[in-house]
Amino acid sequence: MKYEIIGSSSKGNAIVVEDILLLDCGVSYAKIKPYLKKVKIIFISHEHKDHLLPSTIQKIAYNKPTIRFVSGSKEVTKKLLENGVNKMNIYYMQGGKWFSLGLVNLKLEPMKHDVENYALKFKINNVNKKGIYIVDTASVENLKAEKYDLYLIEANYKEETLQRHLQECSQEELVYLQRVPYTHLSYEKANTFLIDNMGANSEFQYIHESSFNFEGDE
Ligand SMILES: [Zn+2]
Ligand SMILES: [Zn+2]
Repeated sequence: MKYEIIGSSSKGNAIVVEDILLLDCGVSYAKIKPYLKKVKIIFISHEHKDHLLPSTIQKIAYNKPTIRFVSGSKEVTKKLLENGVNKMNIYYMQGGKWFSLGLVNLKLEPMKHDVENYALKFKINNVNKKGIYIVDTASVENLKAEKYDLYLIEANYKEETLQRHLQECSQEELVYLQRVPYTHLSYEKANTFLIDNMGANSEFQYIHESSFNFEGDE
């Protein structure tokens, strides 16, 4: 399945799949603009600024008023409305069920973060391929996505590296670092999920990797 990463870190997330589906919108409008001619649907996982950048949403709502937005989060829906997205273009979806929007079929799955957050299962109908987007979650237990074509999965930190940082860091950093295992996914957990779910023809991509500076807390 074709995809392009425009951004994937705590500095800003946006991934385009098969030209038509944009996963999160946490980068500048200038970075997104070249893709907007073809993008039809934008999924927003959660309200954090690295996934939903208000200034970019405002410009999209103004310049591309037909793009549809999908989210399972009330807070995201509220922010979309506040930033000028037409109510008719906001699809507030329940988790755990497949929905069809014509070009794509979508299913949201609740994740474990410090705010309401969803992973997205998607099927791009014209190429008949399935993918999953998993970001900003402490755990993927109870999540199943067997033999999908594409896995975009957070691999935020290595468990051993985090342990080392916890011992060496300053008191201020400690407050943030201690939260990481409760808000983000480790390589180890990502790998377990991939091994349990991938088929012979699946591909995967690690996303939202931290360089271990842990700037911001998105
Ligand atoms: Zn977040
Ligand atoms: Zn994030």
